[in-house]
Amino acid sequence: MPRLPHATTPQTDSTLAGLLGAPAAKPRLLAVDDQPINIQVMHQIFSADHQVFMATSGAQALAFCRTTPPDLVLLDIVMPEMDGFEVCAALKADACTRDIPVIFVTAHTDAAQETRGLELGAVDFISKPVNPAVVRARVKTQLTLKFQTDLMRKLVFLDGLTGVFNRRYFDQQLAIEMARAMRAQSPLALIMIDVDFFKRFNDRYGHQAGDDCLRQIALTLKENLRRPADLVARYGGEEFACILPDTAFADALSLARELEQSVRHKAIAHADSDAASMVTISLGVAGFKGDGVADAASLLALADAQLYCAKNAGRARICSEELTSG
Ligand code: GH3
Ligand code: MG
Ligand code: MG
Repeated sequence: MPRLPHATTPQTDSTLAGLLGAPAAKPRLLAVDDQPINIQVMHQIFSADHQVFMATSGAQALAFCRTTPPDLVLLDIVMPEMDGFEVCAALKADACTRDIPVIFVTAHTDAAQETRGLELGAVDFISKPVNPAVVRARVKTQLTLKFQTDLMRKLVFLDGLTGVFNRRYFDQQLAIEMARAMRAQSPLALIMIDVDFFKRFNDRYGHQAGDDCLRQIALTLKENLRRPADLVARYGGEEFACILPDTAFADALSLARELEQSVRHKAIAHADSDAASMVTISLGVAGFKGDGVADAASLLALADAQLYCAKNAGRARICSEELTSG
């Protein structure tokens, strides 16, 4: 009997950038059955073009799904301790695992059981002993639907013009990162960025050139962020924002300097700017030290105030301040 990857296999890239990057080599299936021979059957059917993981109890299946969500679960119903219905109900009750499609694989194929399973949120029922062609076809259908839904969810969080994250994703992540920073007592920095004299740029070079300029700036900002957890979003028209988790204030400030310089070095001509002969940005940096209590709105307000300060002081520069926690 070949060795199966066990249900504790780690690693999944849940960041949007990761999910939108190269697709996983093979879809990840979790086969849950208290009888290893049944898992072995699934392994034989799917291992050539899927990663097949195994769990021999409900508890093991739930732990696996919470830490490294598979793309689909093949779930036995009759198991000691926790049966398949309970496992399915638990998966559907948890926001982290709710969207993983579940297919019941069972010898019990009466209508009442099937109805109960579907009502609990399963997407399909397959009877044992399984027919390899049928189970393959059904899994394929459900995986296609799952990947289409995943893609739509991701697109909801991207800005159409620049391809960086949008405001909706930014708001959500800032709240998450702020809560995380307080819990871990780690620093968090935020940079708000606004293009200088951009109305004049549009007036002189046209709206299409303005759009191209925004795309170039978004790309430049993105290229300068190095850590996987850092993110850049389009906050509004010609405003961008960077969230820098676990980043000390001084490091955020030096990154802000790099961003300012990088945009300047793109040398996008801007004859009507009072700040320089090329397109420039103004930046407001706000830092949370990681001590005490703060909220996302306060950090955002501080970064915004610093951006306003940079604008007032002549543009093409950075103002920064650390949040004093209350
Ligand atoms: P400041 O230096 O004070 O920031 O001046 P500004 O002209 O950049 O600021 P203002 O808020 O007056 O104008 C912003 C301009 O950005 C006006 C708007 O037409 C332009 N803009 C906003 N979104 C887009 C976009 O998606 N594409 C283009 N081409 N222009 C945009
Ligand atoms: Mg502007
Ligand atoms: Mg603006």
